[in-house]
Amino acid sequence: MEELTLKQSVFRDELVERLRLDLMGPTAPDEVIEDRPTDRYMTGILYPQETSISVEEDDELGVAGSDDEAAVEEAVPLISTMKPSSAGISFSVEGAAPAVQARVRCGIYRLEGGDKTDPNTRRWRRTALEATVPLALEPGVTEESLEGHGIAGLKLYAQVSSADPGRRNVTVALVNLQSRGETRTESEERTFFQIELEARPSPGTAFVARPSRKHAIDDDGRAAELIYRDAQEIATGHTCAAGWDTTDGVVDAVRTAWLPSAVVPAVSPLGDKSFASITASTKLDAEWLASAPVPALVAALRELVAAYQAWIEENRGRVSSLPQALQGQAASHLGECEQGVSRMLLSIQAVETQPTVRRAFQLSQRAMDVQRRWTEKKPLTWRPFQLGFQLLVLAGLADRHHSDREVMDLLWFPTGGGKTEAYLALTAFTLFIRRLHAKAPDDGAGVAVLMRYTLRLLTVQQFQRAAAMVLACEHLRRSDAEGGLGAAPLSIGLWVGNSATPGTIDDAITGKGGATHKQLTSCPCCKGPLDWDFPKRLSRVRCMGTDPCVLRFPKGEGLPVWTIDEDVYRETPSLLIGTVDKFAQIVRNQKSGSLFARGSSRMPPDLIVQDELHLISGPLGTVTGLYETAIDELCAQQGTRPKVIGSTATIRRARDQITALFARRAFQFPLRGSTTAALASQ
Ligand SMILES: [Zn+2]
Repeated sequence: MEELTLKQSVFRDELVERLRLDLMGPTAPDEVIEDRPTDRYMTGILYPQETSISVEEDDELGVAGSDDEAAVEEAVPLISTMKPSSAGISFSVEGAAPAVQARVRCGIYRLEGGDKTDPNTRRWRRTALEATVPLALEPGVTEESLEGHGIAGLKLYAQVSSADPGRRNVTVALVNLQSRGETRTESEERTFFQIELEARPSPGTAFVARPSRKHAIDDDGRAAELIYRDAQEIATGHTCAAGWDTTDGVVDAVRTAWLPSAVVPAVSPLGDKSFASITASTKLDAEWLASAPVPALVAALRELVAAYQAWIEENRGRVSSLPQALQGQAASHLGECEQGVSRMLLSIQAVETQPTVRRAFQLSQRAMDVQRRWTEKKPLTWRPFQLGFQLLVLAGLADRHHSDREVMDLLWFPTGGGKTEAYLALTAFTLFIRRLHAKAPDDGAGVAVLMRYTLRLLTVQQFQRAAAMVLACEHLRRSDAEGGLGAAPLSIGLWVGNSATPGTIDDAITGKGGATHKQLTSCPCCKGPLDWDFPKRLSRVRCMGTDPCVLRFPKGEGLPVWTIDEDVYRETPSLLIGTVDKFAQIVRNQKSGSLFARGSSRMPPDLIVQDELHLISGPLGTVTGLYETAIDELCAQQGTRPKVIGSTATIRRARDQITALFARRAFQFPLRGSTTAALASQ
């Protein structure tokens, strides 16, 4: 884990505190505010009984017609739902005569001057209230009004049971007993804000972890039981969350938490220490991989897999020390890791024994390095998980009949960690291997890779990155002396809604609807200006940079970049980037048949990249599942299927989702061990 600097952690704490002040308050114990407190604060509130949620407050309603995909989930009206008037925590204790001190703190607000006050001069003044109540934790129910402690209208409720000998399970809650007022001001004054309930043990009483009532019903649940086996639940919240303090491992207080927070360890892209020697070498440099002689290349790739195997063995050694109930799950995880190793070794074997696979792999490495030098002015060095993922998938891409095509490989890594580069490298490999494997190289032209994003996530920046990679491939094709890469350019297309890019050349010329075909801001290689024009009935974009640039093609030839639908259907770009909703149109749009090589000698797409899979859920997921079947069929040829890779932010139930969407098994990478993943260790 990478430690935060002091400055970062101070900044983080301040951010959390400001959020708390904003959502819950108060800024001072006796603060005076202008807004109604229920308008000002959003959480930590106990309302009078039977306060219903008004239509205006129901965020989930009124999204009809919105194009925000995440909000398309069906909204259930909350009108009949009541706002909370109770909140509490549950915990377990041990001790001969267990008891706790319950401390309650909250605030109420009074309108100064009463209801008649001029709205412009209205002020609400806070009064801080506090009570400490000793609670003997005898089995049964205790109810205690806090009126005698100075908090009228609030009741403390405790329920204690003794399920196991020596242990008491306790629920302590606060209830606002007051009813709604006649006016909004009255109701406001009967509301408690900044509710805090804390329990501290009396001498001889100890908090203990709550017995786990969760029984894993699926593989995800069993995996979580294994990986989080050391996590203890000391308390759980009702209406709110729960938190606790520990000193030297001893819990000294449990409490309500309205803004629960936890430190999530950062994932290091450098991987486990098993990879230290290979990451310190030059063997993860794309340039070295692109030019290494076959024996050295194969040895380096085997070294990476061997480091992974060492990590697996180390984990295997730990299995016997796990609780008996978890050993089976740990063994199953390690079995999956072994499957990953076998698949990587098959890819390495293909690189070693098949010259075309070796050449496509080395060209893909060269292309990735070239585009990195263009865009960031430095060479590309892979992180272990990025190269590992390429090896996992490569064999299934190289062989159209490989059984791996029945598997969707899921790259699990936090956003910003370098997933896109791993996809782009596999895309480059696909572009080259199709040309090298086709009977005539240009039969490998046509759409080779479909890269799909959900509407909100496809950005100009992503298109530019992908364009830089494809243009690097095209540069290599043009300067290639070995042959076999064909005469058709390696190209990229953008296929999105016509509010962003034009449907026809005419629309592009007139600029109809504000859509623009100018989706690159500068030359990916020299950063020089681009010229977009329409010689004949074609769009054309050329680098006009003044520095020498490999993308300044002879005879005024344009870059193979297509961003108008009409051009996309005719040119069938090697890499087609689109949005999920655009792909849904294939059933209504006959022209899109060309994208799947219908009626030509070319091959249908070989690779589908689906990023951010978790966003394809709800109604969007249902529709996607339907046309995904059609795409699979369109890409199928003589019993082969395209390879599908992607990522998701939520691992849970990803396997079910992938079966439903793509009719494929899911393979998560990096894989879980008995702790976390090696190629992306914590
Ligand atoms: Zn240029």
